[in-house]
Amino acid sequence: MLKYLLGLICLAFSQLATADSNEIAQAKNVIDTILHDNNAFAKHHKHQYFERFAKSQHPRATVVTCADSRVHDQALEHDPDNDLFIVRNIGNQITTAEGSVEYGVHHLHTPLLLIVGHSACGAIKAAGGDYKNESVAIKRELSTIKLSHAISPEDEREVLNGVMDNVNYQVNLAQKKFDLELKQGHLVIIGAVYDFTNVLSHGEGKLTITNINGDTNPKHIREFIRSTEHHRPILKQQKS
Ligand SMILES: [Zn+2]
Repeated sequence: MLKYLLGLICLAFSQLATADSNEIAQAKNVIDTILHDNNAFAKHHKHQYFERFAKSQHPRATVVTCADSRVHDQALEHDPDNDLFIVRNIGNQITTAEGSVEYGVHHLHTPLLLIVGHSACGAIKAAGGDYKNESVAIKRELSTIKLSHAISPEDEREVLNGVMDNVNYQVNLAQKKFDLELKQGHLVIIGAVYDFTNVLSHGEGKLTITNINGDTNPKHIREFIRSTEHHRPILKQQKS
């Protein structure tokens, strides 16, 4: 009898093991990879590494960027731990993550708010077209992206123009929201585009600054970038 029951249990388990749908099998594979990579990360970073930010965080910038899987912090710097307070959502928006952005600026006092759009952004393609058949939640998050013109999703340049349009819009919202910090000189708001398809011909994966506190004049942006070079050693020093 016992043997029979054990047999039934084994059969049930083997059926469970083979009953995985494709998606469940893929999910298991992904989490296995994540755990493996995390083990490697934990193994290669010693106590001293975590100790410097274990009790509190001191990021130097609040970054608002898209949730797109092709956009990540390693494209912005090699050591983002305790340095970038990153808020991500579809279309790198202020409105749909207002509390998080506010936390970075008001509570963590980051002197820089960086808003990063990117080439081939699906949210911009969707917002520039007809998205009435999307779910209520997705429609709500797309409706807060305001573009000045419609977009052909196949036209890379047009999509990028929409991305830049949206970055300018987000910078404008942030300017209104953090008006006092700007006036008091406690904050700089920068809009930029991370271009991994090289639409701008600056090179694949390059970050191009397109807006500084609402100023989109290329000459002013070049001057600003030149002025930041003098501050490089100070910024590095502050971080350590
Ligand atoms: Zn995107």
